[in-house]
Amino acid sequence: MSRAKLLVLAGPTAVGKGTVARYIIENHPEIVLSVSATTRSPRPGEENGVAYYFLTDEEFDGLVQSGQMLEYAVVHGKHRYGTPRGPVEAAINAGHPVLLEIDIQGARQVKEAMPEAVTVFLAPPSWDELVRRLEGRGTETEEEMARRLATAETELASQGEFDHVIVNQEVAVCAEAVVELMKS
Ligand code: 5GP
Repeated sequence: MSRAKLLVLAGPTAVGKGTVARYIIENHPEIVLSVSATTRSPRPGEENGVAYYFLTDEEFDGLVQSGQMLEYAVVHGKHRYGTPRGPVEAAINAGHPVLLEIDIQGARQVKEAMPEAVTVFLAPPSWDELVRRLEGRGTETEEEMARRLATAETELASQGEFDHVIVNQEVAVCAEAVVELMKS
């Protein structure tokens, strides 16, 4: 079977990357969503091995040192997040398109390691809408929100580096546009 596509979905905080990714795997079961590793603690309802692999700093270091991370980065200046390499390569080699929902630093690293990867920047309809979505989510403290918005400002400036920019106005429309890129 030929190698399937790897698509990297990145974009600023609260733009709706998680919602779009969820829509894609619910409606296109042939697409594999990579489960990232992180050193942050689980939020209520987040299951280990489903939302993320929740690791200690030492465990995360071990994966980095043994070359098992396709990419990794400190996100929002705090915790580390990374993509375990093995499952991604296995799925692609088995002919399953793989979706990575990661931050912009990670997207850059994947593009460098695998230039054939397709990178997509998910953009908000406007800055005000992004702030509204972050506030509406209600999962971050004031301090955390300020940190995330500061990161978002620099991230929005980097959209020109991506192969495609898709505005997340409506989840289903946006998700289907991403799927189209994974299959074409
Ligand atoms: P959260 O803590 O809200 O789940 O995620 C925070 C940020 O980490 C999001 O922007 C998300 O895209 C990013 N992220 C999640 N997994 C990974 C990963 O494996 N690698 C990188 N570089 N970023 C990730």
